Amino acid sequence: MNEDKALALEISVRTLQDLGRQNVSSVFVYPLIWIVLSAFTDLPHIAPHYFWINTAVLALTTLSRAWLLHGLKNFSMAAFQRLEYHLIVTTVTNAAHWGVMTALCVADDQLLPLRWPMLLTAAAIASSSSWALGFHSLLRVYLPIAVALPSVMSLLLIGTRESLMIAALSCVFIGYLMFATRARQHDYLQAIKTALQLEQRTKELEYTSFTDPVTRLHNRAYFDVHLELEWKRAFRQGYPVSLLIIDLDHFKLVNDRFGHQFGDYVLQEVGLCLTTAAQRSGDVLARIGGEEFALLLINTDGEGATQMAQQIIEAVAALEMEHPEAGTIRITTSIGCATRIPDQPEQHAARQLLGAADSALYAAKHAGRNCWRAALDTPLKKELRAAP
Ligand code: GH3
Ligand code: MG
Ligand code: MG
Repeated sequence: MNEDKALALEISVRTLQDLGRQNVSSVFVYPLIWIVLSAFTDLPHIAPHYFWINTAVLALTTLSRAWLLHGLKNFSMAAFQRLEYHLIVTTVTNAAHWGVMTALCVADDQLLPLRWPMLLTAAAIASSSSWALGFHSLLRVYLPIAVALPSVMSLLLIGTRESLMIAALSCVFIGYLMFATRARQHDYLQAIKTALQLEQRTKELEYTSFTDPVTRLHNRAYFDVHLELEWKRAFRQGYPVSLLIIDLDHFKLVNDRFGHQFGDYVLQEVGLCLTTAAQRSGDVLARIGGEEFALLLINTDGEGATQMAQQIIEAVAALEMEHPEAGTIRITTSIGCATRIPDQPEQHAARQLLGAADSALYAAKHAGRNCWRAALDTPLKKELRAAP
């Protein structure tokens, strides 16, 4: 789907949802108008057929509207076209129904007590509903026509000076409505477009501000935010969190010997390798420094973390990277592990986990690299604290 089509579809979806919101009150308003009109004119007695037939039609449109609103509340893209069709048909049918009811009152002297109240009601429905829903291109045109056309025809057929005047006024009024809602529709579409563009731009900015451009992994800023969030969640739920700081060994030499560009390629390959290792959803992987990665393991104890560290060390050591002149290049990595069950939710406590993993990394480097070390307070069986 090209960009314009996607935007047009998104606008249609928003419009439909807005129309749904605007429509909620009409489920109650139309029956209420009908109750008031019928009660004050004693309609069930003066015109029982008119009363019962219109009550039945009104009940059906109200049910249809309620069903439509239920559908819009549980909106799904699959049902989009059906819902849009349903909304237009229900709204225009309702408008036409009131239009015909008004036309009958104009034409039939038996309904005389209802004539002026219905003309007034039709004018109010045409103006209020086209004002509320007129930002939809079809409703903007068909809604006022559906309400006004039957009575205008009826008034023209009567042909008295007074009825012709009311017909003419109705036409002026409908014309004005269409004109006024046109500007409103334009503003509405413009507002949606701007909102969508803003959303898109915000997403892009969020992506770039949280993504490392070299490896396409999350960056330090993302990691810091999520370390704090996950730490708080673990504090509330009382489970352990583990952190691995993964640092490439003698990476400076790789850059010095094979160039910065090849160094970037190595970082990307290691990033892919780590992504494959950190498969569990909820785990947070990020590049937090030059050749340093962090992997936050949720609900993982010290043993789980050190097993993961060992797995990563083996996976990175097995990576084979081809250099055009030097041939196959391999690299090793050292990892510092730390595990805690959070005993306080504050950010500085989360940072202590980072500090502990950093110290363990230092110990791993000190122990000769290509190995992992766990922080001293990591709850581990003794023999697991240092890899062989
Ligand atoms: P150690 O085993 O003690 O970790 O040694 P090291 O050489 O890996 O560590 P050191 O901190 O001395 O060097 C890190 C190097 O990482 C230095 C820097 O040039 C390189 N580096 C940092 N960021 C990037 C990057 O984005 N791309 C490339 N190619 N290299 C980078
Ligand atoms: Mg290093
Ligand atoms: Mg480093």
